[in-house]
Amino acid sequence: MPHGGLLFNIQKFSLHDGPGIRTVVFFKGCPLSCRWCSNPESQRAEPCLLWEGKKGVPDSREYSLGETLELCLQDRPFYEETGGGVTLSGGEVLTQRHFAAALIRSLRDEGIHTALETSGYAEGKVFAEVSSAADLILFDLKHYDSRRHAEGTGFPNELILTNLKNALRAGRILLPRIPVIPGYNSLPEDAGAFARLLLSLGLSRVQLLPFHQFGEKKYALLRRPYAMQGVPQVHPEDLEEYRGIFLALGIDCFL
Ligand code: SF4
Repeated sequence: MPHGGLLFNIQKFSLHDGPGIRTVVFFKGCPLSCRWCSNPESQRAEPCLLWEGKKGVPDSREYSLGETLELCLQDRPFYEETGGGVTLSGGEVLTQRHFAAALIRSLRDEGIHTALETSGYAEGKVFAEVSSAADLILFDLKHYDSRRHAEGTGFPNELILTNLKNALRAGRILLPRIPVIPGYNSLPEDAGAFARLLLSLGLSRVQLLPFHQFGEKKYALLRRPYAMQGVPQVHPEDLEEYRGIFLALGIDCFL
């Protein structure tokens, strides 16, 4: 039994991370370092300080399994009414594999729908063990080209694509999601290349996550430089052509 999980937020009433009304449990720690990351406090595996003037406030704390479960179960009526549940997010959930697996198991024992949001960057055995327990995998794909993937996130994408293929081969229910980042993967030819990759994997649905600037203030609180300063946000109406490329190839593409 794991001692607990290091979490930086438990957010209730989310409508964007899986079906229905959801509670999102945010895990600390991520092996990637995406330039656009909107949760920079999630990247370090240990607690950090958020600075407000001269006062440093911890960005996270350890939660026991029981406490986390209790917080999630408080909203059971909303999950039941809307077909919702609990989403494990981060950071990269798989960096705390034991706590993640135990939380998913406990929620499933309670009859709660579980979703795992992941970058897919984890050892194959770890990925398979945790993801196989979840009802839904929200699989974030940053770039179809391995070299460009490494430029944006610090690592190539081969391991990620292997985990994705294995999950599909094992029959997991999986929704690929693409964060659309200006200057990185936002051109029409990028949409075409992503679409061809999805089709080659037998995937026919994709969610687009338009780049936003909600994370900017956190970089200031962490006293870290922000690589995306001044980059314009992407609005849903900016993605009509991009989305249309998926639709034209028969892929159900939505935001
Ligand atoms: S994978 Fe997600 S949490 Fe990790 S650095 Fe990238 S955007 Fe941030």
